[in-house]
Amino acid sequence: MNNPHARLVDTILVAADYAARRYGLPDDLRAAIGALKTDYLVRRGLSMDTIAGDFKFSLGDDLATIEGEYHERISGAMADYMDSSRSITAFKNEFRRIVNDGFNYTAVAGWVDGGANGPMSDDLQAWVNGQIDREVEFVADLFAQLRDLRRDPEKTDEDRGSFIDARADGYAGALIGIYNYAKMEAQKNQNGQWVLGNTEEHCGTCADLDGQIHPVQWFLDHGYIPGQRGSQTLDCGGWHCDCSIINPETGEQLVP
Ligand SMILES: [Zn+2]
Repeated sequence: MNNPHARLVDTILVAADYAARRYGLPDDLRAAIGALKTDYLVRRGLSMDTIAGDFKFSLGDDLATIEGEYHERISGAMADYMDSSRSITAFKNEFRRIVNDGFNYTAVAGWVDGGANGPMSDDLQAWVNGQIDREVEFVADLFAQLRDLRRDPEKTDEDRGSFIDARADGYAGALIGIYNYAKMEAQKNQNGQWVLGNTEEHCGTCADLDGQIHPVQWFLDHGYIPGQRGSQTLDCGGWHCDCSIINPETGEQLVP
């Protein structure tokens, strides 16, 4: 991230959310965190409307809630851009903030659900930061497509709506890979067994992995993350991967 102050505040807010998930916080502390969040958003030059949107991520959210809110915020940003004459820069900055929030909240959820104690490891935080950079790398392309749609007189509101919805589906689909990776990091020293999902067709990689037992760290080292969309290591790219990793002794599901 370009702004170290913003990154620090992001980290503090994520840590506060982590504490709330893990231990629960008294009301006055929650209120203080809320006030810090407002101040932070105002300093970043967001409108009150955007602030209302930003508040949708809240303390202690589970993955499904984060996915829903992320989808809503991403589509909201695209729709805002389509309906207004917002600058490219404002749009790109907002998009980056949403991805930053969504990925960090998701990773915290995976880390905590994986039973980790303490804040995210430096390795995990560095990996999440890299994923954020990758996700926003092609935002200029999204921007160009939105601009074309806005200008094209042949396109109806419905066309625009379904484009936005499909793109938001794609972006929200990335969160499961972040969640699974963080959850695996939290359990990396334990043994895991790959189990094929319910999808009708399995790619060669997943079929080969089926039944294999290794320390979870081994799957991480090889980049085998169940359900990771855009995976470079799964033949299928992970787009329809519904596989999981279980504890081979107890059968308990480790991820997702
Ligand atoms: Zn699979």
